[in-house]
Amino acid sequence: MSYSKEDLRDLYDGVLPWHKTFEIISKPKDDDRFDKYVAFLQERVSYSNKILMPLGDHLNVVAKDGERIVKCDCGYEFGDWRQNWKLNALVLSRDDTAKLQEIYPGLKCPNPDLCEVREFYCPNCGSLLKVEAVPVGYPIIFDALPDIDSFYREWLGRPLPDEKKLEDMTYAVTKNWGK
Ligand SMILES: [Zn+2]
Repeated sequence: MSYSKEDLRDLYDGVLPWHKTFEIISKPKDDDRFDKYVAFLQERVSYSNKILMPLGDHLNVVAKDGERIVKCDCGYEFGDWRQNWKLNALVLSRDDTAKLQEIYPGLKCPNPDLCEVREFYCPNCGSLLKVEAVPVGYPIIFDALPDIDSFYREWLGRPLPDEKKLEDMTYAVTKNWGK
């Protein structure tokens, strides 16, 4: 079974009719799903760098000059995919009652002594990229460090030519801040 790129695009956008959505999500994934998904994402972005791995709304890991970097749809570059991109984002921390009330009015409002809500924005286009609700002072969450080489080698059967060591390089960024 193979679905059209248009069907997958509508599925991604949440506009595919439910009967079709149900059909797609209740069956095993078609073999070329990843390639079709990346193909329509590639059509939407403002840059020509090859998308290696979608990372979430507006964000992809792309190949650029032998490196793999996290890039926003608008073209803004967050750096190596092994570093938490959030460290290079604009952050709105909702850490007091007034700021939390804007999102959780009335009795739903969490206690700012216990909880903060962080919103991460692209510094270039202003898109909201991620929200995390955490205990006060909790380290910024590194959502995902995908093993891109294993995925291409073992799942897609076409290894990337420039395999990289998989390691969390986030602390190199914060170490630099300390200098
Ligand atoms: Zn952007």
